[in-house]
Amino acid sequence: MIRLLLVALSLCLCSAALAQSATERAFDAAIAQTEAALPQLGTETFGVDVTAYRDALSLRRFTSRQWGGEITVAVVSESRESGSCARYAAYVRLPPERGAVRLVLCPQFSTPGADDLRRLTILHEMVHVVAGSNECQAMAFAARIEQLATGSFTPVTRYWEANGCAGSGYALP
Ligand SMILES: [Zn+2]
Repeated sequence: MIRLLLVALSLCLCSAALAQSATERAFDAAIAQTEAALPQLGTETFGVDVTAYRDALSLRRFTSRQWGGEITVAVVSESRESGSCARYAAYVRLPPERGAVRLVLCPQFSTPGADDLRRLTILHEMVHVVAGSNECQAMAFAARIEQLATGSFTPVTRYWEANGCAGSGYALP
């Protein structure tokens, strides 16, 4: 009985650890691409403060012109597929409250495989964290980082069109 309980316990811990490491891999990969792109990003790209973006991604805190003052990034995992998690893999609650902005990772975020989508999701959501809710801005900035870091970017044509980004002033590489 004790042994069975221990086995069950270790399985639970194991799946939690897997989800955790998938998230860590996504952050590590997003950070690596951002660092690779950094020399060509300038101080501002598509209206995104590049220093704030890098700090938010790597340090989970940043000085914000957008929100004012020091902001921390709280990454939280939501286990229920309800509310915004019914529609998204991840989302950012805006504006920040009491100096913190919440990046919520939904169950869909932890879908097995999908490492590249997780990385792109982190690149994309971090734009919302530092610059606000504009989808076209977030997609353009994330694609720019991918392009600079790897020479190509994830095709997002359908999402781009669905959000009416053609006339937005933002552009894909
Ligand atoms: Zn978005």
